[in-house]
Amino acid sequence: MLIDVPKLISLDEILPTEPLLMMGAGPVPIPEQVAKANSIVINHLGDTMAKIISQVKQMSRYVFQTQSPWILGVAGPGSAAMEMAVTNLVWQDTRVLSISNGFFSSRLAEMASRVGANVKTFQVEETHIPDLAQIKQLLDTFKPEVITLVQGETSNTVCNKNLAEISQLAHQYGCYVIVDAVCTLSTMALKMDEWKIDAVITGGQKGLSSIPGVSLIAFSERAYQRMHARPSKCPQWCLDAQLAEQFWHHGSYHYTAPVSGILAIHEALALICKETLESRFARHLRCSLALQRGIEALGLSLYVPEQARLNSVIGINVPEGIEQKDLCRHISSRYRVEIAGSFGLNIVRIGQMGEQSRAHHLFRTLHAFGCSIRDLGGRIDLPTGMAELERGLQASVTTVDN
Ligand SMILES: *Cc1c(COP(=O)(O)O)cnc(C)c1O
Repeated sequence: MLIDVPKLISLDEILPTEPLLMMGAGPVPIPEQVAKANSIVINHLGDTMAKIISQVKQMSRYVFQTQSPWILGVAGPGSAAMEMAVTNLVWQDTRVLSISNGFFSSRLAEMASRVGANVKTFQVEETHIPDLAQIKQLLDTFKPEVITLVQGETSNTVCNKNLAEISQLAHQYGCYVIVDAVCTLSTMALKMDEWKIDAVITGGQKGLSSIPGVSLIAFSERAYQRMHARPSKCPQWCLDAQLAEQFWHHGSYHYTAPVSGILAIHEALALICKETLESRFARHLRCSLALQRGIEALGLSLYVPEQARLNSVIGINVPEGIEQKDLCRHISSRYRVEIAGSFGLNIVRIGQMGEQSRAHHLFRTLHAFGCSIRDLGGRIDLPTGMAELERGLQASVTTVDN
């Protein structure tokens, strides 16, 4: 006796006939070129793959702004890259200072404690960035060997704008710095070498505008030395950077690499190189600021004050009398635009990562957002909001510190 064949509905019936515009906190829309590459399967070893891997590493060095050769890919979500950074640099009793101001920075702390580290969490006040003087004090007293932090906290839309100062300070103490840039890489400045960061993590489906499931990580030369000198083997076989090095640097087998996803990320990186980081940062900043002005002109308020506000995903306070869930559901079903709720906060989040930062997407999104609030009984000034968005997109912006 066999178990019965299941009764199914076809994928066409499950998927919406008109695709939803993905304007939430990731995954984000992908360019045609990325989608096309993602449909190809080739041998995971051999000359063709070697050329592709070599270019992925070259382009990554540009995007991460590092001379370090130690670029590795991971078959897995951004969290797998986070875990790879943590478990390779942290082990039993390692003193880890985890700067925590949101969901993802707490995840890094959790990962460090699971490998037996001595973790001290520095809890930053909601909607604030960490205070440098307090971090200095912790470097003096707790003497962490590793610091973990997030550049852009997608969960509550806070940007740790003093990342460079924190990292450079930690470096003076000989401390290793792990930075989660899943949401921010290629949307705003991150200079791995100049800022003295030892491990930078990114995922595919956010700033890079590739597919979910293949992630990248860059280790500094110093971090690489530390991994090779560790007292015991990395507990996770798949995430062992020394084993991953076999594939990413010596053309041999570790596990079967996610070839289609690597081809996709190759194309995503190639598009970034073609656009250049300078223009890409300016595009993101212009789009984000224009959308922020547009939302405020509707008569709504943003969750995070400007000095700590992330320009890759913005958090909007849900107007009184409207339920966050209803708003997300309505804009999706009625206007075919996806936005995100949040982990426990009464905000909705709209992304400006990669392909999300295109004028036509922003117009459609703001219009749908305003209409949805009106449909649900809220009071907003839609024409003024749309006009502000248009004005913002025309404005020239200068990005600080490209
Ligand atoms: C999305 C995100 C992650 C987790 O990425 P997954 O691909 O969901 O594992 C980690 N950190 C930040 C800042 C993120 O935005």
